[in-house]
Amino acid sequence: MNDSGFVHCRDCDIIFRPSPYDRACEYRHTPDGYVEITRDDCMAFLVTHARHALHTLRLTGSPVAHEGPQWDPMVATYWQVTDGLETFVIRGSRTRLEEPLRYQLLPGRLVQDPVSVEIPEEEIRERLDQALYPGVVPERRLGAFVAAFREIAWDVEPDQLETLYDISSDQTLSIARLPSWALERLMRQVRRIFDEGDAARVEPLVMALDEPDALHVLVRRQLRIEA
Ligand SMILES: [Zn+2]
Repeated sequence: MNDSGFVHCRDCDIIFRPSPYDRACEYRHTPDGYVEITRDDCMAFLVTHARHALHTLRLTGSPVAHEGPQWDPMVATYWQVTDGLETFVIRGSRTRLEEPLRYQLLPGRLVQDPVSVEIPEEEIRERLDQALYPGVVPERRLGAFVAAFREIAWDVEPDQLETLYDISSDQTLSIARLPSWALERLMRQVRRIFDEGDAARVEPLVMALDEPDALHVLVRRQLRIEA
């Protein structure tokens, strides 16, 4: 993917995105057999709009926003761009799969809403139960652990959370873990809630620093267009 930006024709209000694939060979079937045609989309655009007011819109480096899963080619994508003076948002979408993306210039900028953190309490409870003797841990201890996790997680600033991975089906959502100081605080609570033997069994679950399946929180970062 090329990230140099876009070219906008002010006269026609058409946006073109130059890419390394603009010069592509096409094979067309004719009565004489297959004929190779070199298609240069960039040149075609520049020729069509040669006498028009063209300006370059460069990406500002802010995150790209998608309206749904990134793997879905029908999902609209938003880029924040600038002409050097003003900031705009370009919306790229297609109405049919076989069509190229069409771009639309929108006023405004992409802003990130405050990050929200969700705690998967049911999952944490199950993981803890599995780490001990499943089904025999008193409910009040499971509840006390979840409460301690929640309280400590709320004390962590969202930018201190360590992202483990992003959810490919929802680009606003990622899986993150608590920083080690918070996990150590949680372990101190574990030693108060459980006896020594159980605390030792819970410790690998809580402190699993490199484990992708460490106890985690869900972090939601929503981008939206602000005029
Ligand atoms: Zn034009």
